[in-house]
Amino acid sequence: MSYSTLSESEDQALSVLRAILDNTVDGLITIDDTGRILSVNKACEAIFGYTEAELAQQNVKILMPDPYRSGHDGYMANYHAGGEARVIGIGREVEGLRKDGSVFPLDLSVARVEVRGQVFYSGIVRDITVRKRAEEEILAKSAALERFAYVASHDLKEPLRAIEAISEILALDYADKLDEEGLTYLHHLTESAQRMRLVVTDVLEYSRLDIEQEAPEDFSAGDVVQDVLKEVTLELEQAGAVTDVASLPDISGSRIRFYRLMQNLIANSIKYRRKSVPLKLSIYTSQGDDEYTISVADNGIGMEVEYHVAIFDMFKRLHARHEYAGTGIGLAICKKIVEGWEGRIWVESARDSGSTFHFSLPKRMIVEA
Ligand code: ADP
Repeated sequence: MSYSTLSESEDQALSVLRAILDNTVDGLITIDDTGRILSVNKACEAIFGYTEAELAQQNVKILMPDPYRSGHDGYMANYHAGGEARVIGIGREVEGLRKDGSVFPLDLSVARVEVRGQVFYSGIVRDITVRKRAEEEILAKSAALERFAYVASHDLKEPLRAIEAISEILALDYADKLDEEGLTYLHHLTESAQRMRLVVTDVLEYSRLDIEQEAPEDFSAGDVVQDVLKEVTLELEQAGAVTDVASLPDISGSRIRFYRLMQNLIANSIKYRRKSVPLKLSIYTSQGDDEYTISVADNGIGMEVEYHVAIFDMFKRLHARHEYAGTGIGLAICKKIVEGWEGRIWVESARDSGSTFHFSLPKRMIVEA
């Protein structure tokens, strides 16, 4: 059926419209510019527990708990006087009040409609109780998982230390009593314990980022980068590296986390270099309106575009362990650090063309650029 056919009969058009509105899953409310309810659909009756007759002519505040209720007149007056819109044309999460007095979360978006010089507002409401509950459950589960990872990795350190100590004793005091096969097993044991230490240490560090809070301090990002570079002087020399570090800002945040972030990115640019060419490592900055971006660029092996997001996931690695050692947790730690500051981290890279890791920090963290 086309709308042109419908327009032949306004009555029919209205009935169709009414049927559509009443069968819409979301609640629809129309109010006038004083907040008086003009119409509600069936979904709205179900969401709030009122009949349409009970709501007609009432002020829409009846559906709002405080503080929305007490603030509504002021909000509308302010909006009419040209003030800021908080829901009109935007949509946001607010709370609703049912007839039985219960309060529930809802998504509300309001549109302003003008018909023959008269202003109306039509609101779309969606009860998001189930979604909110699911979100809360996920958050609780993820907090429990983080706690579990923290406790498990922490508690694994003790038996790991014992395994390492015993294999050391075996290697020192019993090597001559072992045949070749026994020595091979001992070698595997020692290697596995070392590998486990790396994983346990990284998982512990990762989960600590959630559990432990670091007090912010003002520090020089340039000094931190110089400290990291000093730590890897030997590796840089071996890679024939040419480094180019721009002037970096003073930052307010956790110095130790910034250190770890830069340490991971710089260590990766050394590890994933192309052996055939000297390493070129540059660190530079750029600024947007709200963000300050620091970039770490190398001319290393790079990676295909399909890995640009996945490499920031826990344990994601693109190479076998015998090619490049590692746990696949470094970039996940970087991501967690940057997101903890409400920043973003991403990579630009192509196979054999180097990689540039960028991370942005909100401007409020920049003390002096
Ligand atoms: P790890 O280095 O321990 O494997 P990361 O989380 O630091 O773990 O990095 C994940 C993966 O991303 C690496 O295995 C590697 O394949 C890729 N990668 C990271 N940094 C670079 C880089 N600078 N150049 C090329 N590939 C990189």
